[in-house]
Amino acid sequence: MSLGEFDLIDRYFRPLGRDGAHAADGVPLGIGDDAALLVVEPGCQLVAAIDTLVEGRHFLRGCDPRSIGHRALAVNLSDIAAMGGRPDWYLLALTLPESVASFLEPFAAGLGALGGRHGVRLVGGDTTAGPLTVSVQLLGQVPAGLALRRSGGRPGDRVFVSGTTGDAAAGLALERGAGAGGLDGSADPVSDAWLRRRFLFPEPRVALGQALRGLATACIDVSDGLATDAAKLAASSGCGLRLEAASLPLSSALRSLCTPVQALDFALSGGDDYELCFAIPPDCLDRLPAALAAGGVEATCIGELTAAPGLVLLRDGHPTPAPRPGHDHFRGG
Ligand code: ADP
Ligand code: MG
Repeated sequence: MSLGEFDLIDRYFRPLGRDGAHAADGVPLGIGDDAALLVVEPGCQLVAAIDTLVEGRHFLRGCDPRSIGHRALAVNLSDIAAMGGRPDWYLLALTLPESVASFLEPFAAGLGALGGRHGVRLVGGDTTAGPLTVSVQLLGQVPAGLALRRSGGRPGDRVFVSGTTGDAAAGLALERGAGAGGLDGSADPVSDAWLRRRFLFPEPRVALGQALRGLATACIDVSDGLATDAAKLAASSGCGLRLEAASLPLSSALRSLCTPVQALDFALSGGDDYELCFAIPPDCLDRLPAALAAGGVEATCIGELTAAPGLVLLRDGHPTPAPRPGHDHFRGG
């Protein structure tokens, strides 16, 4: 049975407006009026991000709606994390072909589960009929002057990435299957399932982003492929980048699924990791372990910012051709 627009909002989205650890804070008026009213804490700046997921582009047709809900929020949490912000409130613009519970219930559950864990609250949105498209706008706060940017790195700063990279791209390849240009599973279904989860339910590094305030000179989240995003950070900082292929953090699941060449390609050029890539000056490296402990994740040094522009990838100490570029919506890939 399909629901009317207002019943749908009441049933599935109004409850998410009451979620959140600091839900009572800063929302004099949430869902239900023409717009929400939000109060930014004294001394803070508002940090805003928006991302859209389109069926067939960002998720496969027939994808678990719980994953769509999770990822729509996760990609935005990752952007706010990369700014060192604390996420607080989000708006949801949902376009869907038909308002059916079989989609809406797991979709709202995926959104609500991740939102609840990060203490963010749904404060409004828009609902229309049409081809399945999900836009989430996330608002957060950061103490004035402390936001992390892409542009603050200097030559000599060490470049780190959190977690492991390439897993999500491998997980997507498994979801597609070899018949559709993806990959067949390995002999280990448990590690394959872990890779799929890395694509379907990424964990944005929100605590790490905040722990890097006042320590990282530059930060970006890895959404389009590590090489592309690290090179963006370097270019924004007016630097070049030297990456060590042997240093890239590859999960054991990725290594057991792929050949070494394939694994490196996924790690450098695969998208959707939602890890953080950041620069730390050499004289601040001793403060990094505490930040990683607060962030609850490991990080690996993968190279260094250089005065000379451009990306150099070292293999066994020798420069090799630049990896294939990461994702660009208007250039394919
Ligand atoms: P308006 O016509 O003024 O834009 P609507 O009637 O579309 O408002 O929406 C009514 C209320 O429900 C508004 O507060 C709006 O923010 C909220 N809303 C609409 N769609 C969603 C959604 N998908 N998620 C959360 N809130 C929503
Ligand atoms: Mg109105």
